[in-house]
Formats: sequence, structure tokens, C-alpha cells
Amino acid sequence: MSAHIIDGKKFAEKVRAKVADHVTRLKEENGITPGLAVVLVGEDPASQVYVRNKHKSTVEVGMNSFEHRLSAETSEADLLALIDQLNTDPAVHGILCQLPLPRHLNEELVINSILPEKDVDGFHISNVGLLSTGQKSMVPCTPLGCLMMLRDYHGSLSGMNAVVVGRSNIVGKPMANLLLKDSCTVTIAHSRTKNIEALCRTADIVVAAVGRPEMITGDWIGKGATVIDVGINRVPAPEKGEGKMKLVGDVEFASVVEKAGAITPVPGGVGPMTIACLLANTVTACCRAHHLSEPEGLTA
Ligand code: NDP
Repeated sequence: MSAHIIDGKKFAEKVRAKVADHVTRLKEENGITPGLAVVLVGEDPASQVYVRNKHKSTVEVGMNSFEHRLSAETSEADLLALIDQLNTDPAVHGILCQLPLPRHLNEELVINSILPEKDVDGFHISNVGLLSTGQKSMVPCTPLGCLMMLRDYHGSLSGMNAVVVGRSNIVGKPMANLLLKDSCTVTIAHSRTKNIEALCRTADIVVAAVGRPEMITGDWIGKGATVIDVGINRVPAPEKGEGKMKLVGDVEFASVVEKAGAITPVPGGVGPMTIACLLANTVTACCRAHHLSEPEGLTA
């Protein structure tokens, strides 16, 4: 039997609606409008698209969006000065510096200059430490979105065996920490892992965050497992016409859908959840800044 398709687009709409409701309440009851500042350095075309989408989504849920576009030649000192200004601006509750930064800028230094409470990407070393010690933190958006979908589908994740394929700081590691916090037994696999197919076959949950098109096939997956495909890979699509491209995940959908119990598609799975979780993190940051109760179900 074919797996249940976890509809990330629909779920992301629900998350956005919840965020919008909370924004309305904050405005009406407390006179506060949550604000997200996005800093883009340079003209990377993919980053420009992401920043445009973030701005549109922020405005759609009723929050203030502050865009700061800087030239590719911006000095580290100027960028740090801007972040400093945003750190102290009471109208700004979340700050996101679009990555990657131009090579002359030190990404770690820049990310760690954002106030942890305003670090809505969850990449600041304090937030990484808080998450890995099971404490309240700002959580990276993509793994938070995966966790929300898993909780929604399964209810409790306690006791489940989870394999996270990929150990990056932005997806694999925080994902593993979140699953551990929800009492899964977690294994992190990576490019040096032996017998990775057999390992994945033992899992109740497989999260694929590898960046290799359709690497995980049906024979890697145990019957009835839940498969979360984080991968976004642009590959040639000759069936659509010469020179055409399409998006595929790190999971081979056609074979995995026949083995899994549930699966997220690409596109329309994890992708839409990432921006929804950025909005969720901003409203959470705003509530925390004003010592107000946080919306339920929007944090880890
Ligand atoms: P990275 O390149 O930073 O990390 C990839 C990880 O996969 C590494 O840990 C690497 O292992 C591991 N890996 C590579 N090849 C293999 C292999 N053959 N077998 C097992 N493990 C392997 O990628 P990211 O974590 O940033 O992103 C992963 C994917 O998720 C990408 O497709 C990216 O586009 C997508 N993505 C999607 C987002 C969304 O919003 N949906 C957001 C962020 C990312 P090692 O450490 O040993 O090299």
C-alpha cells in the first residue's frame, strides 16, 4: 500500500494562520506588532528570492518586515554595526542574516553578534548550546518544521528509533537534538557511516538531509516507517523539455512511497514549513521579549 503523504503546504498554512491569529491578539491586547529584520549582503540570486519570499510572508501574517540590503563589498565592521543597531531596536524581535555571506565576511562572527533572543534562525552558539542541553532556545526553522510535522502525524514520538542522515549544523544536528528531546532513540548518519542502508531499515523515522538527489531508495526503508525528506536538489528534467529542470529530494519518492507509512514530498513537504517556522519563531521571540505567554504548538 502507498504511504500517507504528509502535506507540508497545507500544514504550513495552518502554522501561518496560527501565527497571524497571535499577531492580531498581540496588536489588539498589547499594542505590540512583532517585527522581523532580514539582512541580505550581496546579490546572490537564490538569496534574493528567499528574502523576497520572507518579506511577503512576514507582511501577510501582519508583522512588520524590515529589509536591509547591503552591497557585496560591505565591510564586516559595517555589517556588525547594523546588527548592533537591530539588536537594540525595540521594534525588531527577530533578526535573520541571509546565508551564505560573501567570502570576506566571517559567518560565525556575524551570526554570534545577533542577540540570542532575536536569533530567529537558531544558529547562535548560545541557542545551539541551549538546544543540545534540552533547554528553551530559538530552534532552527527547518528542523523545527520537520518536528512539527512528525508530532502532528504521530502524536508522541517517545521511544521511536530515528535515523537522521546528515550532520550539518543547520539541519542534521539540531534535528537529532530535537528528536532526542522528544525521547526518540537517535542515530546520526553521515558520509562515513558504515552499512547506512541497513541502519536506515531499522528506523521508525528517517530524516534525510544530505543534498544528494534521490540517494535514499525504497530498499533503505523499513515497512511503515515515516520518511521526512529535507533535500532540495535541482536536476535536469528532459521529460519536461530540453534544458528544463525540476526539484527532487534526497529520497527517491517513487520507490520509498511503496515502503514507507508516511512521507513528505518534494516540493510541498519540508520546504513550505521552513518560512512558516521563521514566522513562528519571530512571534515566539516577541512574546518572550515582552514576557507574554507564547502561542501553543509553535515551539519545540
Ligand atoms: P550539508 O551539505 O551541510 O550537509 C550534508 C550532510 O550529508 C553532511 O553531514 C554529509 O556528511 C552528509 N552526506 C553527504 N553525502 C552523504 C552520503 N553519501 N551518505 C551519507 N551522508 C552523506 O547540507 P545541509 O544539511 O545544509 O542540507 C541538506 C539538504 O537539505 C540539501 O539538499 C539542502 O538543499 C536541503 N535544505 C533544505 C531546506 C528546506 O527548507 N527544505 C533548508 C536547508 C537545507 P559529512 O558531514 O560526513 O560530509
